[in-house]
Amino acid sequence: MILTVQKVLDLSKYTKELLKLFSSSENILLICHINPDGDAIGSQLALYHYLKAKGKKVELLSPNNIQEFLKWMDGADLINIFIRDRKKSITLIREADLIVMLDFNQQNRLGEAEKYVLGSKAIKVLIDHHLNPHNFADIIISDPTKCSTAELMHEIISLMEEKKFLNRSYAESLYIGIITDTGNFEHGAYSGKTLRIIADLLEFGIDKDRIIDLVYNNFSYDRMRLQGFALNKRMVVLPEYKSAYIYLTKDDLNNYNHIKGDTEGFVNLPLSIKGIIFSTLFVEKDNFVKLSFRSKGQFPVNEFAARYFSGGGHLNAAGGEYFNTLENTIAYLLKILKEDTWRIND
Ligand code: 5GP
Ligand code: MN
Repeated sequence: MILTVQKVLDLSKYTKELLKLFSSSENILLICHINPDGDAIGSQLALYHYLKAKGKKVELLSPNNIQEFLKWMDGADLINIFIRDRKKSITLIREADLIVMLDFNQQNRLGEAEKYVLGSKAIKVLIDHHLNPHNFADIIISDPTKCSTAELMHEIISLMEEKKFLNRSYAESLYIGIITDTGNFEHGAYSGKTLRIIADLLEFGIDKDRIIDLVYNNFSYDRMRLQGFALNKRMVVLPEYKSAYIYLTKDDLNNYNHIKGDTEGFVNLPLSIKGIIFSTLFVEKDNFVKLSFRSKGQFPVNEFAARYFSGGGHLNAAGGEYFNTLENTIAYLLKILKEDTWRIND
């Protein structure tokens, strides 16, 4: 049974199905995507708090480690990390009769957990807001018109009319999902409806100033210095293509004692330059280059990433990878920019 919601007109039908599944399942496992962001962890923990309040047995799993700025969240310490604790994680997957996957549209985002999850006997549900979900779940609730999985989650749970099971930790988790996926309401598909959801969440008494402080003012001294270095020494502006890029070598990262997540957000910075509508961040890895793309307006970085860098994402935020040297990857991007098909128009 594949239930794909591309437009939310009759989401209630799917939520009834989901509510029945929540009731009938004994062992529920919630899984987010690899390198989880605020929306992945936020929607996962929100669903966790709701189901726990209902008295369900629920386990949490992430394919890999959680970034520092999310570790303080209520329940984050309960998330099992697949690559750190394989044996327990595989057991949890095996024992689950319902697996809910959150905030991704392709099975490879399960990382090393992929084959175990796809091979499990559990009923699999996907809840996500990325375009064109692949068909790897029994029930797919996908709504790309939502700014975040967190927003979609609140809509689904609200339709279940179980307000008594919602608490402050639930609201805090969703708030984090929404603010991180919209860059604190700077971008993304947020709407009046999103802001009405924010109003609902604030009424749970969450401390928004504390949350913003914990999420955004959490950088190390080294990370701040790496950002300065990246902007000063590693940013190249190409006004003729309304583009700019930043590249970081492995040595650069080592020089600033890089830890996971330190380069998060760098790709957005060149878009603050007047006239720049397309930004790329290249990060050198062991045998490939990880790319992040951002755009303003209608330039579809998800299509760009899919076509040239085996990647994907959203209209204005996407990523991919290229198995070559950093130098050749930059040269490849420049060659693409010269091609007429991708000439950037406002
Ligand atoms: P970021 O640049 O923050 O790492 O990623 C932005 C968005 O691009 C993510 O939310 C995700 O949807 C998408 N993305 C990033 N890297 C990849 C990738 O390697 N493959 C695919 N399919 N999507 C990616
Ligand atoms: Mn998301």
